[in-house]
Amino acid sequence: MVNATNGSPYQVALSQFDRAAAHLSLSSGVREMLRHPRRELIVSFPVRMDDGSEQIFTGYRVHHSTTRGPSKGGLRYHPDVTLDDMRAMAMWMTWKCAVVGIPYGGAKGGVPCDPTQLSRCELENLTRRYATEIAVLMSPEGDIPAPDVGTDAQVMAWIMDTYSMRRGYSTPAVVTGKPLELGGSLGRAEATGRGAAYMTIEAMKHCGIRLEGATVAVQGFGKVGAPTAYFLEDMGCRVVAISDINGGIYNPRGLDVRDVLRYAQENGNSVFGYPGVDAISNEELLALGVDVLAPCALENAITSRNAPAIRAKVVVEGANGPTTPEADDILSDKGVFVVPDVLANAGGVTVSYFEWVQGLQYFFWNEPEINARLREIMVRSFDNVLRISQGKGVDMRVAAYILAIDCVARAHQLRGTHP
Ligand code: NAD
Repeated sequence: MVNATNGSPYQVALSQFDRAAAHLSLSSGVREMLRHPRRELIVSFPVRMDDGSEQIFTGYRVHHSTTRGPSKGGLRYHPDVTLDDMRAMAMWMTWKCAVVGIPYGGAKGGVPCDPTQLSRCELENLTRRYATEIAVLMSPEGDIPAPDVGTDAQVMAWIMDTYSMRRGYSTPAVVTGKPLELGGSLGRAEATGRGAAYMTIEAMKHCGIRLEGATVAVQGFGKVGAPTAYFLEDMGCRVVAISDINGGIYNPRGLDVRDVLRYAQENGNSVFGYPGVDAISNEELLALGVDVLAPCALENAITSRNAPAIRAKVVVEGANGPTTPEADDILSDKGVFVVPDVLANAGGVTVSYFEWVQGLQYFFWNEPEINARLREIMVRSFDNVLRISQGKGVDMRVAAYILAIDCVARAHQLRGTHP
């Protein structure tokens, strides 16, 4: 059992790192370097609001690592964003890129705000000013943002335009998750969910669970949760429960996921009130006796408090950091097979990488090519992590971290320390 982490995502990230690093013979210098973010930028900036006033916002951008290439990671607009959270998520991005063998380091950025309370014009003003403030770090060669909670393709379009105006020419490769019209990649919008679905199938194969009719519960029904749910339904699973911030819905016979999505899109992005099903709470969803539980909302969903109640055989972490290390121990003791976030949700950054490559060379692939390359990378990564897990007798998270930390540490050793 590791030390209690008090739920801070950064403490969780460090604890996960320490747990895996214990299996590697890293020098103390490399170990400390990997525990610390490479650089952090805090900005305060004014935004013109619709009533003519100026409101001051704070923004963050953290680079955890640039050892293996440009830093890459999402931008979050959410009231709870803190610098510490960004540190954790930047670190997770470093490991995620290394697990799937993509030549990036990890980054994350965000602005504490509630985007649902901003008008479209205010959101655009905030985004353009934040992008201007972090432009000292951002570039196609240096740091490439992408959507995360509270941001989307439109936000990426504004960032791409703001950056391009500064440069004097269009620079599509400075962000990923852009609209297709601006050089976005086919398949990117659904890539995280598609990848999570591929990982669920691999996990079920490994655990001897039949795909046809396997029951699934999905927490969070946004850019990750919704495609995870409908791809699993397409592949023959029965999605029995879905939730969002307002609560969940349950039908033991299975939900029509695309119909639920249509309903949510017409009802304030919420499944709340969907007809003909039972209403359940998020806590009840987590405790359902399903084959697969996919936490796809926010960090710290599964803690030492609710982990004992989890009855799923497989947990696939669509969200970043949904399980605390204390909860990991409890799930492991119960024999739950956990596909960790750095593997389960790596489909997003993988297709972001494809988008960046396409943007740099102005040559675009078709969707079957994208999806086939995604599947190949995800399945190979799953196999690599599973091999380490079985070889060393550790869980999939520790195995993924061992693979990733070793990869980044070796890259650092080859580069050497400058000067
Ligand atoms: P999103 O904003 O599109 O969706 C978030 C969903 O979670 C919404 O349905 C929201 O209602 C729900 N939610 C929020 N708080 C909740 C709570 N307390 N309980 C239950 N549900 C809650 O965000 P997203 O892009 O889908 O990201 C979700 C998670 O996946 C985050 O952890 C994010 O970092 C991670 N992630 C996203 C991507 C991506 O490509 N978007 C890639 C990798 C990882």
